[in-house]
Amino acid sequence: MKKIFNYRVLLYYKYVHIEDHESYVKLHMKFCTSLGLKGRILIAEEGINGTVSGTTDQTNAYIYAMRMDTRFKDMVFKIDETEEHAFKKLYVRPKKEIVTMDLDNDLDPNQITGKRLKPAEFLEAMKDENVLIVDVRNDYEYDIGHFKNAVRPDVKNFKQFPEWTKKNKELLKNKKILAYCTGGVRCEKFSGYLVREGFTNVNQLKGGIIAYSKHPDTKGSMFEGKCYVFDERIAVDVNFAEGTKIVGKCFHCGNPSDRYVNCAHLSCHAQFLCCENCEEKTARTCSEKCREVVDQYI
Ligand SMILES: [Zn+2]
Ligand SMILES: [Zn+2]
Repeated sequence: MKKIFNYRVLLYYKYVHIEDHESYVKLHMKFCTSLGLKGRILIAEEGINGTVSGTTDQTNAYIYAMRMDTRFKDMVFKIDETEEHAFKKLYVRPKKEIVTMDLDNDLDPNQITGKRLKPAEFLEAMKDENVLIVDVRNDYEYDIGHFKNAVRPDVKNFKQFPEWTKKNKELLKNKKILAYCTGGVRCEKFSGYLVREGFTNVNQLKGGIIAYSKHPDTKGSMFEGKCYVFDERIAVDVNFAEGTKIVGKCFHCGNPSDRYVNCAHLSCHAQFLCCENCEEKTARTCSEKCREVVDQYI
């Protein structure tokens, strides 16, 4: 049966000065609530970063209204079709940064950032052997899908990238760096940081994995596995050129798996990859310890 997609997920960001961003958060919350959107929107003085879901009408109304605002008139919306809301609630939060890098001396990607490559240019560049493809996401995002030959930075959050860069100076030195992330917002800052640190050949994938997956020139080519997303879907297919292969491994048995689950022990709630077999065998727990606690309630 053909699936019916009545809902859409919008992924977007813009680095642009937002005067009195805390008041804007309140206005924006009211506006999104009135439209019936759900999702997560972060607003800082430096810009906006959001993922929202809603019906086609609701998301169209949102895009239309945002484009009427001169600050966001050229904001790019990446659109995914889906069967239902991808979020349970709506959060609109004031933040210091729209992606938290926490540098002593913050940078503005409108002033300094890496060279933006279109999907086809990024694909072409990846085929060169003398490039360093850097995944600018967290380790658990990398683990269920990434570009072929990409470096996996062992970071748990974006804030750890400056530290990782310092530790890996030799690896990055004199290389043509190709950075990518989910939608582009993290790369704008990270590649700007690399340029400021003195790296000279810094490039980033414009629009991130999501734009690359949808672009007819690339269709996700050379991406292995799925793309982790921060909503109820958890992961989405990327590679429509060669197909999706499973790169993740079950935490318990090591067999191929791209199913992220949360530990059934609620105060643990750790996220891990788990195959269906092991989910059944372990009652979806991450450890013996958690299993003992969960068993008490069964
Ligand atoms: Zn398993
Ligand atoms: Zn656990």
